[in-house]
Amino acid sequence: MEIRTVGVVGAGQMGNGIAHVMALAGYDVMLNDISQDMLEKGLAKIHSNLERQVSRDKISADDMKAAMARIKPTVQLPDLGQVDLVIESATEREAVKQSIFEQLVPHLEPHTILTSNTSSISITRLASGTDRPEKFMGFHFMNPVPIMQLVELIRGIATDQETFQACSAVVEKLGKTSATSEDFPAFIVNRILMPMINEAVYTLYEGVGNVTSIDVSMKLGTNHPMGPLELADFIGLDTCLAIMNVLHDGLADTKYRPCPLLTKYVEAGWLGRKTGRGFYDYRGETPVPTR
Ligand code: NAD
Repeated sequence: MEIRTVGVVGAGQMGNGIAHVMALAGYDVMLNDISQDMLEKGLAKIHSNLERQVSRDKISADDMKAAMARIKPTVQLPDLGQVDLVIESATEREAVKQSIFEQLVPHLEPHTILTSNTSSISITRLASGTDRPEKFMGFHFMNPVPIMQLVELIRGIATDQETFQACSAVVEKLGKTSATSEDFPAFIVNRILMPMINEAVYTLYEGVGNVTSIDVSMKLGTNHPMGPLELADFIGLDTCLAIMNVLHDGLADTKYRPCPLLTKYVEAGWLGRKTGRGFYDYRGETPVPTR
């Protein structure tokens, strides 16, 4: 089946990026969030990111105008019932995602494919709460969506081949590359990345290094473009903690124990860039380490 219309649930940093790339690729997009305010913030972000692409000659001003016109914001989740493909990209909490699918299912067309951009939650479990586990899979973008090339495609235990092929074709139309992962906690990228970030937080917690020495070490010592703590702030510390908890619970191995300092930052509401403070304080001109 060919996908023409896409519904994106959640207009946060990932959801607005997904709406952006889908609209630029020619899909009609319905963008949903819980409040008008969140939607407006998401649309403003899409607008400024598209403007940046125009100023760098990546796209034309006409492309930008056409993309913005293809995105229809709505706070009413049932408005997404008519689309061909839903990409759920709300907060990384299983109960939130389950409740979204539960509310959406009675309004869906029979052919609609459901997907989640979850970083770590079981696709098979999310699928089993819907009326269409065979038309359900993981569609995992990387942050920032307009820039990062990879999309992880995750097949749940019941996902059928037609659904998988339809999603693969979407990734191709976006000009991105897909990698296929089986449905185990945190899939491939985060299964490898998050324990490294968590270990960086332990390194900080145990006083082996401070924020600067840890990030400089990993940038210059391993040629990573960002240090692990800077990257954690970029991803969002709540999302990092949620993924570590999924690994810990799902694989029952103490090597995935979330660092207590990561928990502490999340409890403080210091979630990284999106809240202005995390391992760095972003409220001034330049980021300042908080430890
Ligand atoms: P975010 O906090 O920036 O955005 C989440 C958005 O979901 C918010 O705007 C919130 O209002 C909205 N939301 C919450 N409950 C909702 C509901 N019931 N209905 C509609 N919208 C709702 O988080 P994010 O970084 O965009 O993460 C979203 C998803 O993407 C998560 O599943 C996360 O694991 C995944 N993801 C994140 C990254 C990353 O680097 N941050 C990378 C890949 C995937």
